[in-house]
Amino acid sequence: MMQDELVNKDAFYAMLNTTYDNCIKKAWYWNRIQETIDIVNSYKAKRLENRTNEIVSKERYYAGKYDVLKISGQQRLVIKPTEGCKDVICVAAVEEFFDIIDEQHKLTNHGKRDKLKSLLKKKYNIPRTAIETYLELCKGCVFRRPPRRVTP
Ligand SMILES: [Zn+2]
Repeated sequence: MMQDELVNKDAFYAMLNTTYDNCIKKAWYWNRIQETIDIVNSYKAKRLENRTNEIVSKERYYAGKYDVLKISGQQRLVIKPTEGCKDVICVAAVEEFFDIIDEQHKLTNHGKRDKLKSLLKKKYNIPRTAIETYLELCKGCVFRRPPRRVTP
């Protein structure tokens, strides 16, 4: 079996959509991330150019929570570091959930879910539902561990 086929991407998103439906409006899709990047950039530009009187409340709100950093040549929306947390945590787009979880999960070699969660938590804000959905579908994990419950 090919490594890539351990979790089916379409199945992942189909399953995620059913569990994720009630909070879908708040979900970070690429277009919402891009909009927020623009808002934060606009705020920063106004600060830089001494046009603070033009800053609108929406810009102030998002700039208080998020920042925009260039990571691997790409503009990324990150959660503003606080005193307690200095890690650079990217806001992950729903569209990239799969690839991010997939990559980190393979790094842990189908390790424990807590290990995966703590790995991801340091880099991305990915909802727990997405991680759990992925793990439920991972054939690699099913083969490695004794089954805890019988699937109907
Ligand atoms: Zn696995």
